[in-house]
Amino acid sequence: MGRMITAECTNCDACVPDCPNEAISEGDDIYVIDSNLCTECVGHEDEPQCVLVCPVDCCVPDPDHEETKEQLQAKYETLQAA
Ligand code: SF4
Repeated sequence: MGRMITAECTNCDACVPDCPNEAISEGDDIYVIDSNLCTECVGHEDEPQCVLVCPVDCCVPDPDHEETKEQLQAKYETLQAA
């Protein structure tokens, strides 16, 4: 399952440099995660880095993008090959 950012985001920018997939960017109101790029850090790290650094805990599982660890690993490999 990918991650999404909720309305609690304070636009602090802390998560952007720590995302190994460069999946996070500034949105219209809050920061956003590109579900095509988010692997929950599978392939890079043991846990999602945005979750570790976000001061308000607003990087949560995205119910609209349910993916297994195997699917996230396959996405990681596809992104690496691109
Ligand atoms: Fe928003 Fe959290 Fe990222 Fe800061 S670290 S920009 S509060 S999602």
